Amino acid sequence: MGENYQLILDQILEGIQAEGRTPRLLLHSCCGPCSTYVLDYLSDYFEITVYYYNPNIYPKEEYDFREAEQEDLIRRLPSKYPIHFQRATYDPEDYYQKIRGHEGDPERGDRCSLCYRLRLEEAARWAKEGGYDYFTTTLSLSPHKDAQRLNAIGRDLEEEYGVAYLYSDFKKRNGFKRSKEMTDEYGMYRQDYCGCLFSYQARRAHEAERIRQDKERRGGRWPGHLSMMKTWIQDNQEKIFDKVALIYKILAVISGIGMALKILSVLGIGLVGTIVSFGLFLPIAGVMAVLAIPIILVLFGIRVFLFWMAGRSAQALPLKADRLQQFAGILLVFAIIGFLFSGDSSFNRTMALAEVIFHGFILYALSVTRGEGPNSGDDPYRRPL
Ligand code: SF4
Repeated sequence: MGENYQLILDQILEGIQAEGRTPRLLLHSCCGPCSTYVLDYLSDYFEITVYYYNPNIYPKEEYDFREAEQEDLIRRLPSKYPIHFQRATYDPEDYYQKIRGHEGDPERGDRCSLCYRLRLEEAARWAKEGGYDYFTTTLSLSPHKDAQRLNAIGRDLEEEYGVAYLYSDFKKRNGFKRSKEMTDEYGMYRQDYCGCLFSYQARRAHEAERIRQDKERRGGRWPGHLSMMKTWIQDNQEKIFDKVALIYKILAVISGIGMALKILSVLGIGLVGTIVSFGLFLPIAGVMAVLAIPIILVLFGIRVFLFWMAGRSAQALPLKADRLQQFAGILLVFAIIGFLFSGDSSFNRTMALAEVIFHGFILYALSVTRGEGPNSGDDPYRRPL
């Protein structure tokens, strides 16, 4: 049985309050979701600078997403004392050099200890340079991170760098549960693997195995049932949404061409009608054409806009997931109305139905690719933070 670092933290916080001061804390953060609870908790006592130093994260796009989510959270989170953000340079070589020889270690093994030390040491160095009163990390929030190991590293670095380490075990007192709730409240992106290439591969291998077993159980039928469809979508989300982005953009172009053809035909009818009726001084068709064009522009224009924006949002996932959901939802309503009023034309009916299914699929795919992550389930592979 190791130390209870939450109790040690309680004592430090009591001391700070008794002295009536607001120390400066450099908080190393691994990601936005883990920092939710920690920031909410500690910003009542400290002026915090969140230090985002995570060269372990693979790939670069994932690193950028997590960083953007971290900054966004800081902007939106109400706090008693100011919270600042400090980004570090992303150089994965720092990480690969540090863990060399331990690439094959299991998660929570020596590779992870080296990874904790790398990030904490950089935080200690930065805290020393910046004259901070304390430094610490969000890492102890996860049930899959060993608080004893983390705090032991913190103690070593405290001695080495001469900056006080803020001992902590944020998972105590329901910190982890609260972080899950806050992540939902803020609609944040939640990754489904710890961060490095090796945890990414472990996660993918685990998913592949799940699919294989599921297929076996179902006698090889695919997709067979919703849960397999869900797994398939989650495992191929990047490819699926790349295609979705392309399809939406193609639909925007087709709708744009449709709009132009409609306008040309209305102008043609109007012109012919005007010539025919001109002798009678009744250019009714021409007037009708002029009136019809703005209506066509609005009706078709909205669809072109929605298709195009949906395509752009799909391209920028997962950051633009909310946007895509809104655009796909509106397009689904349009498609349902289109289906209901498609008349006797079987071509129109089929096209409208295909559109309903397409938008419906996207909404379903979004719902199963969000909220799946390290903070979301009981499966240890899903939350190895
Ligand atoms: S699994 Fe997580 S803690 Fe362990 S080495 Fe990879 S990124 Fe670091």
